[in-house]
Parts: sequence; structure tokens; C-alpha cells
Amino acid sequence: MAVRTASWALLGLLFAAVGSAAERPTPPIPIVDSLPVATDARLGGDESRTRFVMDFSRKIDLHAFTLADPYRVVIDIPQVVFQLPPKAGESGRSLIKAFRFGLVMQGGSRLVFDLAKPARIEKAFVVDAADGAPARLVLDLQLTDRESFLRKVALDSKSVRADLPRADGPNAKTSDPRPLVVLDPGHGGIDTGTKGPSGEEEKDIVLNFAQRVRDRVEKTGKYRVLMTRTDDTFVPLADRVHVARDAGAALFVSIHADSLPHGEGDAQGASVYTLSETATDSEAAKLAEKENRADVIAGVDLKSEPDDVAGILIDLAERETKSFSMQFAHKLVGEMKGVARLHKTPLKSAGFRVLRAPDVPSVLIELGYVSNRQDLQLLLSDSWRNRTAESIAQAIDGYFNARGTGARAGTN
Ligand SMILES: [Zn+2]
Repeated sequence: MAVRTASWALLGLLFAAVGSAAERPTPPIPIVDSLPVATDARLGGDESRTRFVMDFSRKIDLHAFTLADPYRVVIDIPQVVFQLPPKAGESGRSLIKAFRFGLVMQGGSRLVFDLAKPARIEKAFVVDAADGAPARLVLDLQLTDRESFLRKVALDSKSVRADLPRADGPNAKTSDPRPLVVLDPGHGGIDTGTKGPSGEEEKDIVLNFAQRVRDRVEKTGKYRVLMTRTDDTFVPLADRVHVARDAGAALFVSIHADSLPHGEGDAQGASVYTLSETATDSEAAKLAEKENRADVIAGVDLKSEPDDVAGILIDLAERETKSFSMQFAHKLVGEMKGVARLHKTPLKSAGFRVLRAPDVPSVLIELGYVSNRQDLQLLLSDSWRNRTAESIAQAIDGYFNARGTGARAGTN
């Protein structure tokens, strides 16, 4: 503790002059009273050492660990409200190239630091507020070599897996025999997805839309519905698949609304994707690549799926699942074409990570392109959303009717 106090004194000197409170804009979001608030952040150091400091309204707990390729440091903290200066984290200093922050799960926020070189976490702690200064999170990094860095990552990774959200909600185990439909609104939290010209965010559009689909599917009384997220929370891609599998899903529907750069094909209208190892066209490949990047954005390690487990069994299940996924995709296009504008080739396949459950028929719907003005207008229109959500609910019902409702419920 004596050491920490000493370094804290130095720290105060080092950072007293940077980032004055007067420059900070008035917070645009109402503060949730009970949550700690992060108010400022700053960096200091040289080639071999870097210190990061973040001010908080009160003391919090933290858990820090490292990730490789690219080199990153991640700090998990309880859910906090971030009220940092507008460009906080966009540029870095010495060992830290940049950092980002956001809500990753209910009750949990995360800081992710992109490192310029492999570095060792020398210290990571929080000091209490004292003498009029706020509580402060302090991260000290020291330059290290790749081998030492990787060794530390291997040690850290065990505890990281234990921290990820689990599918043990009320829906996980139930005696309800009705088929379970998992709806997966893309993105969330720190990962906003595509942004429209006036700041419309894909994560909001798809959450709102998924809720409309949920309401309609639930209203039939024939199915249970589980959402991979019901609020603005980041959920890693692998966990979306885990949620579906652990809960025994009979169908998985991921919902997105994306953009493509100008000149990248005729990006207009809705598309329905099933899984393939090779995308049907370059547009599809680009989209899959973009969606799969979500986990990198939030700094989560993706190496969570053992690839070689029971290969043959998985292969058999996959073939059956693929054919069911295709049946559902056809139903979707059939129902949607009457009410929603569809892409000129609406049925596509691509290597989306969320479609990889070997035993849950899965599709990904791109509702339209946020970057296309007409598509965006539809995406934001109440009546279009309702019509399209209804058509998807119809397709879900049609799919199960064709298979005999509940035939596979509870067997997954
Ligand atoms: Zn998306």
C-alpha cells in the first residue's frame, strides 16, 4: 500500500495539468444515480512504460488481462456510465495506440486497449477518492517481448472464459414442450454496427425490429422466444451461438441492417443468408467479414470453440441442419417478398459466425442497407417494420407447420 500511495503522489503530479474539467461538455445522457461515472481519462509515459488513468465518481473493482494478435489489454469493471471527453481513446501514447470502452453485459463494462507493442501489466488498481480528487483507475504497462506476452495470455485466458455471460437464464431449462425460437438482434453496446447518415445505429434498428418479431411469434402461443439481447448490451458472437444451443433452440434468426461502400454492387433491399464456407458473391463475403469483426471490436478472444470435437457427428448434424436452414430461408423469402423490398438475389450464403451452431437451423436476415436512402426510410418506418416483422413471424410458423410443430422441441 505504501508503494501505491507513493506512485499515486507521482501520478497526481504527472496528470494534474492534463484534461481540465472545464473542457468537458455537459453530459448528454441522464445519469443513472446508482452507477459509478467515468469522467476523464489520460495517458502518460515513454517508449517502455505507459500509465493510463481514468477518473471515477467512486471506487470500483477491476479485473485486467491481456489478449494477443493484436496485442491488447482488457479491463473488466462493473457497469459504469461513461462521460468522457468526446474523442477519448481515439489516439494513444507510447505503448497504447488507442482505447475503447462500453457496456459488454448487464452489470459489466469493459475497457480495451490496443497496444503498439507487447506489454506486461505491471499494476492495475483503483485508488479511493481523497483530498478532493476523484477515485482513479490506474493501469501501468511495461514493454515486454512476444514470448513473455503470450505466456501471460495463456495463463489469463482461463479466467476470461469464466467471466463471459452464461445461458442460464429462466429459459435455459424448462419443461415447456413448445419449440424455442432464438432471435438475435445484431451488435449492441460498444459495437454499434453500421451508422446511417444521420447517426441512426444498426444496433438500435435491429433490436427494435427483433422485439416486434418476438411479440408476433409469442402471440401465436405456439412457440417460446428467447432473445440474445433485450437491451443495448454487447454479446460476443460465440455466446450468441452458445445461448441458442444451451437453451435447446429449434430455430435461430439473426437480424442485421448493414451498409456497403458505394460502388460495391447493387446494395438495395433485404437478403436472407444461410451458412456457407464460401460466400456466394463478394458482397456477401464483405458483409460476413464485417459482421464477424464484432468480437474484435469488443476485444473478446474468439478461440472458444474446439474445432476437432466429435467431427463426424457434427458433420452429420450439420448436413441436416443446413437443409432445414435452407427450407426456412426459402419460407422467409416467400413471405417477405410480398411486403418488403428484397435484394435482386435475396437468397445468399456466407460464412457468418453466428450461423455456425451445427444442430440449430440458422439464418441471418439483412433487413436492408442503412447506407441506402430508400432502404433506410423503410427501416425507420413503423408500418414497414410491422409488416415485415409479421411476414417473418408467418415464415417461422410456416416452417414449423411444414415440419410438424414441436417435432424436434427439446431434443437439441
Ligand atoms: Zn450487422
